Amino acid sequence: MNQITSNVYAETGYRGCNPGFVVTKEGVVIIDTPQLFGDAIAYRKEVKKHGKIVYLINTEPHGDHYIGNYFFDAIGIAQEGTRDVIMQVELEPLKERIKMMDPNAGPYLADYKIKPPTITFNKTMTIHLGNHTFQLFHLPGHTASETAVFVPEERIVFTGDNIFHETQVFLHEALPKEWLESLQFLKTLDADYFIPGHGEVCTVDYLDKMAAFVSDWITAVQDAVKQGWSLEEAQERISFLDRFPMGQGMEAFGAELQKMNVTRLYGLATNGQL
Ligand SMILES: [Zn+2]
Repeated sequence: MNQITSNVYAETGYRGCNPGFVVTKEGVVIIDTPQLFGDAIAYRKEVKKHGKIVYLINTEPHGDHYIGNYFFDAIGIAQEGTRDVIMQVELEPLKERIKMMDPNAGPYLADYKIKPPTITFNKTMTIHLGNHTFQLFHLPGHTASETAVFVPEERIVFTGDNIFHETQVFLHEALPKEWLESLQFLKTLDADYFIPGHGEVCTVDYLDKMAAFVSDWITAVQDAVKQGWSLEEAQERISFLDRFPMGQGMEAFGAELQKMNVTRLYGLATNGQL
């Protein structure tokens, strides 16, 4: 567990997203939950040493951010699109995915349930707890409902997956133009540290590199379409695997990810949306 400021912690070593939490005078607010059940249970124990868990904020609707919600007894909060997507997930296929991904999940799977956030917001929301303020911003990009959590008293932002810090970027559901705008907005927040969805904690300097990575993807696929490449040709020829390593536990999935990213951007480009 990394302690980032006097009251903020994040775990960057798990497979899946980086869960983090803020300790206030009136309890703990957690942001996203560990994907692997063993990690979720160990993490819960660590968090509880700092107080009662009051709120659980999910930054996006991908499994690596919410699967572990099941292990946390707290009031769930998310952008309304995140809840909508989670509400549509079917339990049995999800359990099958968990079984494949998490060899230690077995004993908990029979009782496992999806735990969607129960309180939602549209554009922004502010939560006050103890002496802390949590400003939630809807910032579409990596997903349509991506959310950042800014805690001004700690000068820290939990960015969700709009930042992949020096790891490969997932664009398979991205709104890439909005993503670039969201990164510009993140730069305006008065923060010392950005806790990314994946990769190590970073500072504001990385935001331009992140934007460049998204822009380079956009340009590569736009060029492919301009040159008349078919989707299959673009999938064969475009790869950014030399830029950063894959994230934790995803090492074998690099080539497939490049294809998924090309597929998404190619679709947007040919519909005039890129
Ligand atoms: Zn994601």
